[in-house]
Amino acid sequence: MESLKNHARFIFVTGGVLSGIGKGVTTASIAKLLQFRGYKIRILKIDPYLNIDPGTMNPIEHGEVFVTDQTWVFKPVEGFEFKISEIDLDFGTYERFTGIEVHPSQNITSGQIYLSVILGERKGNYLGSTVQIIPHITDQIKQRIWDAAAQDPIPDVVLVEIGGTVGDIEAMPFLESVRQLAREVGRNRVAFVHVTLVPYMPSVGEFKTKPTQHSVRTLQGLGLQPDIVVCRAEKELTESAERKIALFCNIPENRVISNPDIPVIYQLPLSFEEQELGSIITTHLGLENRSAITDDWINTVKSFRNPKNTVTIAMPGKYTSLGDSYKSINEALFHASATLGTKVEIKWIETEERCDVECLVEDLAEVDGILLTPGFGKRGVEGMINAAAVSLDKKIPFLGICYGAQLGIVAFARHLMGWKGAHTTEVDSNSLFPVVDLMDEQKTTEDMGGTMRLGGHEVVLREESFLYQLYGTKNIRERFRHRYHLIERYVSRMAEKGLEIAAYDPSGTIINAVELTTHPFWIGVQYHPEFKSQPSKPHPLYLGLIKAGLDYKAMRES
Ligand code: GLN
Repeated sequence: MESLKNHARFIFVTGGVLSGIGKGVTTASIAKLLQFRGYKIRILKIDPYLNIDPGTMNPIEHGEVFVTDQTWVFKPVEGFEFKISEIDLDFGTYERFTGIEVHPSQNITSGQIYLSVILGERKGNYLGSTVQIIPHITDQIKQRIWDAAAQDPIPDVVLVEIGGTVGDIEAMPFLESVRQLAREVGRNRVAFVHVTLVPYMPSVGEFKTKPTQHSVRTLQGLGLQPDIVVCRAEKELTESAERKIALFCNIPENRVISNPDIPVIYQLPLSFEEQELGSIITTHLGLENRSAITDDWINTVKSFRNPKNTVTIAMPGKYTSLGDSYKSINEALFHASATLGTKVEIKWIETEERCDVECLVEDLAEVDGILLTPGFGKRGVEGMINAAAVSLDKKIPFLGICYGAQLGIVAFARHLMGWKGAHTTEVDSNSLFPVVDLMDEQKTTEDMGGTMRLGGHEVVLREESFLYQLYGTKNIRERFRHRYHLIERYVSRMAEKGLEIAAYDPSGTIINAVELTTHPFWIGVQYHPEFKSQPSKPHPLYLGLIKAGLDYKAMRES
């Protein structure tokens, strides 16, 4: 730890003006600049909410919940344990940009911090003291940052994204902690990057820098001086806007970096590289300014450009009003289609509104594939089941993910087996044909947070399956997040109509995947393949869906 304390370098990323301006992508892109130079990095994210993890949040509020391969047993104090594998969606961006799997302890929430301190007080950890935000909460935050920094392989640079916006009450203890930490480490080993929004006013043909000035002033009022200001804007900033920001924010002009709208987000590290942000940061941190090796990344970005073809994939579901609800799925579809020189158009279908078969036949008439989404609960479910029924009937390529696979089986039971009222017990506990039911281990579970079957698990594919052909291997590992599963006693009877079980868990008790022999591409998986998809390493299942979609399109148009 001592040597870490003497060598660690930190980049703290804060945000101003608005939330949701791409701080995550900016942080991941800066990490990439360091990777281009062969430096080892680790990214942490602080979320100032009181939840222990985002697992119980509605994705409409906070976007998708990202699932890690590893599970972290969080022990706020001896005698208390919480399993964590569900973390903020920005970690998906970090994994996709850096290619490094994250550990759930890299996501620090206010809930974890306060719980540790409050339970610690009961244990007697602070005997004699009045327990306060400063120093007890701030010390706990700093401890967590050091703990995450100290994991092997020891990184050269630790990047810490601070969620929320500067000025939020919730974020104050975190900003205070990083101020203290920067002073302890030494200002020459710390860089503060502030990400802001710079609106462009077409009526006057001008960028407006005032919101940025205000948010930097708020930051300065907390004792934090940004070293770099990254400006989200419609287009590249003009020199005069840059000059103004530099002047008011007290930084050199070359440290005002544009983060303009770009067609492919994976281009951002290259745009930063062009603006010399990589060498600005390494010089600032006192690192050797090695040359950046960007060839592989340039090739990846190129594959996303100039698609020769288009496929339309429908996504029927209930969280369609926020694109980020299915962030990793969208990215996985992009990765797979780019690899095939194809552009993917996603057609969202809100199944609470579009729920009967007639509507869905109409909505699905001009799509080339269906991805039935993960989810929970009863809202929008009948529409999802009917969308799966249309895929069976019209032979539209179909990939059901988790809830999507479960509801696909419900559709199969109702429409091909004739089992009226078949359902998942998640929605209808009195169903006559409960084809999807709670896993045994879940039957006694009472708490809702962190208690699903979560994280990475081994999956064993049947060698005769189509799935095996897609993966080209028998033993795989995928990430899960579920309480319910397909009930074998029912699913095995579906074989008479062509449904095959394609994969199990190693114990042979949980069906992990099903496929249909009488359909060109109809697959349901209990896991979430999207969490493992990378821009240059698309997931075989998503590749399969896009390929099948291209074939279907050719047929549909012939
Ligand atoms: N609600 C389902 C379950 O708990 C599916 C969950 C999901 O789609 N991730 O099993």
